[in-house]
Amino acid sequence: MNAMSEGNPRRRGPTLRRTGERAKCRFCSRSLPRPARREDALHANLPRGACACGATFVVDPTGRNGGVALVEALTDAAAGDRGKASYMVPGRDYNDFIENYEPRAHRYIPGFRGYRRGMARLYLVKLIEVEESDTSDPSVPSG
Ligand SMILES: [Zn+2]
Repeated sequence: MNAMSEGNPRRRGPTLRRTGERAKCRFCSRSLPRPARREDALHANLPRGACACGATFVVDPTGRNGGVALVEALTDAAAGDRGKASYMVPGRDYNDFIENYEPRAHRYIPGFRGYRRGMARLYLVKLIEVEESDTSDPSVPSG
């Protein structure tokens, strides 16, 4: 009797399917710090953080405060200028990435597009620096 003979599956299953990607800055690829709650903020329920490259992000734990979370992130990017943040135009004044996010693991959740009920989202924004020179720079990727 050969008791040691067992099925030895060699095929690799799609085990990585549900493994998220550690939250990182889409502008510079650095790992993002964990968001910190701010007691003094207008929206204390929206934790936020910043990347060393100048990008800022806000986490919406419920996924339902999209517009507010985006303005909060822009306000931080604009050094607290809420009025300025409210009229910024995407693609002209700033670029943004919106990721589905798992707060406990501090990871992005791949595979979902658009809003999913109950899922936290991370709003990452970075202002477009306008230089004095008048060279048009189409280096910003779209999509
Ligand atoms: Zn960055």
